[in-house]
Amino acid sequence: MTVRLRAHHLLCMLTYVGRGYSPAFTANFDRIVSRLNAGESLLVVEGPDDICRPLLNEQPQPHCLEARVKKRDARAATALSRWLDLSVETGRLLHPDRKLITRMRSAFAEGKTRQACLGCEWQSLCTRIADNAYTESRLGDAEDPPRPSSVPARVR
Ligand code: SF4
Repeated sequence: MTVRLRAHHLLCMLTYVGRGYSPAFTANFDRIVSRLNAGESLLVVEGPDDICRPLLNEQPQPHCLEARVKKRDARAATALSRWLDLSVETGRLLHPDRKLITRMRSAFAEGKTRQACLGCEWQSLCTRIADNAYTESRLGDAEDPPRPSSVPARVR
């Protein structure tokens, strides 16, 4: 199995602590993170992805379909490709092992890939998670299993 993610969600997965837009959204995100932690690969897709799916079912006009979110994907893909020497394009298969996640997290913490976050309501939370060395994040990898989060779900 492969997890399908749009480009800017390659950043969001780094800071995921169990918070999100709805119970279904966080439950689904938890399952995706568990799959990644178990070693599944990532496929870069265009538009709504596996993380978006609950919102597509819950909301008549989910933000996942908006042009500004597609621009966020483009900015994320450009920054990740530049700073990680990684071609992040639609159809690209990635293997998010410890080395790649560490590189992505370093670039994010240094602000190199944060152009994609402009205008996002979660910015302060994601900055705090990065500033705290991602210790609260639920994303680990197959060699470094997820840490239990002390942050209750759905509390922002
Ligand atoms: S600020 Fe928004 S776009 Fe950036 S990583 Fe956090 S949730 Fe994702």
